[in-house]
Amino acid sequence: MVKARKYVVVKRFDGPPKRDDFEIVEEELSNTLQNGEILVKTEWISVDPYLRAYSIRYSVPYDQFSFQVGIVEESKNPKFPVGTRVVSHNGWRDYTIMDPNKGETLSDRVYKLPPLNGLSDSLGVGAVGMPGATAYFGFLEICQPKAGETVVVTGAAGAVGSIVGQIAKIKGCRVIGFAGSDDKVKWLENDLGFDKAFNYKTVDVTAALKQAAPKGVDCYFDNVGGEISSLILNQMNEFGRVAVCGSISSYNENPTKLPKATILQPTLVFKQLKVEGFLIWRWMNRWSEAFAELVGWIASGKLKTPEHVTEGFENLFDAFSGMLSGDNFGKAVVKV
Ligand code: NDP
Repeated sequence: MVKARKYVVVKRFDGPPKRDDFEIVEEELSNTLQNGEILVKTEWISVDPYLRAYSIRYSVPYDQFSFQVGIVEESKNPKFPVGTRVVSHNGWRDYTIMDPNKGETLSDRVYKLPPLNGLSDSLGVGAVGMPGATAYFGFLEICQPKAGETVVVTGAAGAVGSIVGQIAKIKGCRVIGFAGSDDKVKWLENDLGFDKAFNYKTVDVTAALKQAAPKGVDCYFDNVGGEISSLILNQMNEFGRVAVCGSISSYNENPTKLPKATILQPTLVFKQLKVEGFLIWRWMNRWSEAFAELVGWIASGKLKTPEHVTEGFENLFDAFSGMLSGDNFGKAVVKV
């Protein structure tokens, strides 16, 4: 009998999550697979900001979420033989029985790890997984960047932001990033090829943008929301495009009690800005397009895919909490 370990939320909480809000429990899995089912051993688990946001907004416990890469250990599904590597959305657990034919919603789907040409399988929850697709479609479809334009990215040193900035460079744009430490700023400029980066905790954002983007901002990829985004929107050019990807600056706040924000409608009207929020599920049927192009860029050296790896299932909470407070350079993942 296989025993799975999984995290469950034992206390509802306000503010930043704490270790004793979670417990690791054991679950006995059935000895016999039904036709169509596979037994998957988890190898990599993603920790993502949306777990925090969803748990507050929809009162959903964390153990129902998180992408993972795993290997099929037993199979009664000829399309997923033993040894197949799969990406699924099963939460913080180390073994799972699933039926790839039975995903009820887009996020329930199990799919084969895309061909990675020898790259680490962990990319299946990162640059060649949901965060990579988010950067690719959110930026290219909503911002519609043109060569020579100026792009600003917040959360620039994270999983999604670091890819958005590099795609913008591939498309011939000038890229300015905001991140939360001086080391991240240096890393973005020296290692990832951003034209300019700033520590949003220490700079005057408006002054920084006036200096780094004297002709204004054409595209803004917003990972963080809050006041910094209002300041950036005020520096945009006419017909600028804004992809609203996330708002991590408020994920620990109760969504019914958010602080009042700067009034932005006059800016939106007079600059004729297009501001569009999105969820990556919108393009799920096209993810393979993004994956093929992203793998090509990685192989040709145009796209770097840094990861912040935490070892051990028992350290998942620390990885999650550390990611929320900015420990990660690139994608935060856990090696199980
Ligand atoms: P990251 O890898 O960027 O990790 C989160 C980062 O957020 C931290 O490293 C930290 O970096 C930064 N951060 C934490 N608190 C704050 C704050 N108060 N203000 C500004 N930055 C903060 O995560 P992802 O790349 O996975 O996600 C980035 C954003 O994209 C999130 O908002 C997420 O919810 C969103 N997202 C949206 C999707 C969609 O479908 N719309 C899909 C995937 C992600 P720092 O040191 O710079 O502060």
